[in-house]
Amino acid sequence: MIGHIPTDDLLAHARKLADAGGLAVPDTAREVTDLPVSGPGEIYALTRLAARDAGSVLMSSGGTTGTPKLTHVPHGMGLDRLLAFWRPLKPGDTLLNLFNAGRMWGSHYYMQTLAEKCRCTVVPSGPYEPGEVGRWLHLFGEVGVTALAGTPTGLADFARGVLDAGGTLPVRTVIWMAEPWTGNKRDLVREAFPDAGLWGNYGSVETWVMAANQPGCDETVLHLLPGQLMEPDEDGALLSRVGDGWTVPVVRYRLGDRVAPAACRCGRPDGLTVLGRADDAVTLRSALFKVSELIDVVRGEPGVVEAQLRLTRSTDSARAASALTLDFTGTADPEAVCARLTGEFYHLAAVARQYPGALRARRVDRLARVERTNKVPAMLWQDADAGAPPENSESTA
Ligand SMILES: [Zn+2]
Repeated sequence: MIGHIPTDDLLAHARKLADAGGLAVPDTAREVTDLPVSGPGEIYALTRLAARDAGSVLMSSGGTTGTPKLTHVPHGMGLDRLLAFWRPLKPGDTLLNLFNAGRMWGSHYYMQTLAEKCRCTVVPSGPYEPGEVGRWLHLFGEVGVTALAGTPTGLADFARGVLDAGGTLPVRTVIWMAEPWTGNKRDLVREAFPDAGLWGNYGSVETWVMAANQPGCDETVLHLLPGQLMEPDEDGALLSRVGDGWTVPVVRYRLGDRVAPAACRCGRPDGLTVLGRADDAVTLRSALFKVSELIDVVRGEPGVVEAQLRLTRSTDSARAASALTLDFTGTADPEAVCARLTGEFYHLAAVARQYPGALRARRVDRLARVERTNKVPAMLWQDADAGAPPENSESTA
């Protein structure tokens, strides 16, 4: 368990939610684990009810890797509660909001509200290609940009643009969320903005912010906000929270991620680390593997900067692939990358021998992104008849 809620408080909270139309609490319930697991249906029903009187911002999780889920987020976005724990901005700051706007994705609007609550100025720009940044840099300097917010991918693009333009900005605060850092993205941001502290968020559209970190923390460790309890689980961690001021009250809500408790160098309690998606187990010609494990192994190969799996959907089942192409950026030799994979995953090596062409590695200039969020997903599914994009160099195991 990560975090703490007195059991009696949580049981009382669950009964209150049940009375308001939530899931029934068994009469025999004595422990947290006796309570039923809830899902996006409960969140949508509860938040829709609350929005009848107070209004809301209707958000969607978008369904990058699953079915879209709708949530009515209250206008205040639960930020009074968050800011008591995590306050990255101060009056006088100017925040450049690099998150994509529109399409019911929450991050852009969250940053607008955060700036308002922190009484600072916000520039709602969205992401930039590195080549565009030079044209804007003078304006950003003029208006006094001191803080950036974006995905690690969007922040790294912006940093690349600043470095290529030979310019600089006095950035003190970098707010990041929505995907993990990779080493090269973090290095670019550090190089372009050496005085900036990293402020991270972990949340979802359904639950909004659950955990956060700040300068002084390990970058992969986030601290659960007080008043919450998280149960690690292979099928997706379970979140409960009590008290007022959250965007939505939840009892044992099933998240899409696996998490584990973690110690942080800052010494504060309730640290957690996100291990990966709960649904990232995939089969290639019946050989089972975890996408996150495979990506981790490939990133360990010298010359690989970033990696992504392109899976050709098999007709057998939803999580089954008939072929796998590992796209990567960097200077590594595709043959060496393939050898690394088959050396570490013996069952994939067997598949590669039996089905020539089913497993290959390919060096590319840029990995595919999700258009709506500008994130780089760990894997993409494509249909068997989809044409392959142009490639630099490839190797088949
Ligand atoms: Zn910490």
